[in-house]
Amino acid sequence: MSLHDIRMLLMDVDGVLTNGQLIFDADGRELKAFSAYDGLGLALARRVGLICGIITARTSSVVAHRAAELKLPELHQGAHDKLAVFEEVCRKHQLKTSEAAFIGDDWTDLPVLRRAGFAACPANAVAEVRACAHFVTPRSGGHGAVRDLIELILKAQGRWEEAVRGYST
Ligand SMILES: [Mg+2]
Repeated sequence: MSLHDIRMLLMDVDGVLTNGQLIFDADGRELKAFSAYDGLGLALARRVGLICGIITARTSSVVAHRAAELKLPELHQGAHDKLAVFEEVCRKHQLKTSEAAFIGDDWTDLPVLRRAGFAACPANAVAEVRACAHFVTPRSGGHGAVRDLIELILKAQGRWEEAVRGYST
């Protein structure tokens, strides 16, 4: 496991990019709340060429909308075999699985977390996932957990200053 090798970050959605709540309106449309902290973190990652994307078992238009807004190059919804999708996305980018990080919060994420070069989970993740992760973010899903992970990766790679150039001065 080396943060220096990480070239891609793939993420679960529910409980990671959100607090895990599934909210439905009266017409059955699904709503989710995302964090602006994660939004800026993902924009900073994009600035320095860290490939970011989503692998989620559920399917909802609100996730497609958020992924488009964040200009995420990889969006995989309805992924019931997350490990297969994770390996396929790595192959597509000609990366080894050891060069990809994954952040997930529940049992369905464990196969990917065990395969990823760097395994992370938000503070709210279930105990089995926390036990398997290289890094448990200080913040919870939907409250900046992904931002915590992006900062960790870019700082370890010495790319944080480049990522925030123009913002921090
Ligand atoms: Mg989840």
